[in-house]
Amino acid sequence: MTTVACPRCESAVEWKPENKYRPFCSERCKLMDLGAWANEEYRIPNATPPDDDAPDSPRGVD
Ligand SMILES: [Zn+2]
Repeated sequence: MTTVACPRCESAVEWKPENKYRPFCSERCKLMDLGAWANEEYRIPNATPPDDDAPDSPRGVD
């Protein structure tokens, strides 16, 4: 039997079709993980540089 670690609490989880919450150990951990996403716990790095209106010299080079 393959086991994986629950991403949320790191409990051993049996990887089997009957476990509908896999890779989580339980519905609770699954919901917590989804909730974390909803709360932006996992932030996506801001890809947009700050709006800098310095005309031609790169920032920090003086
Ligand atoms: Zn868990």
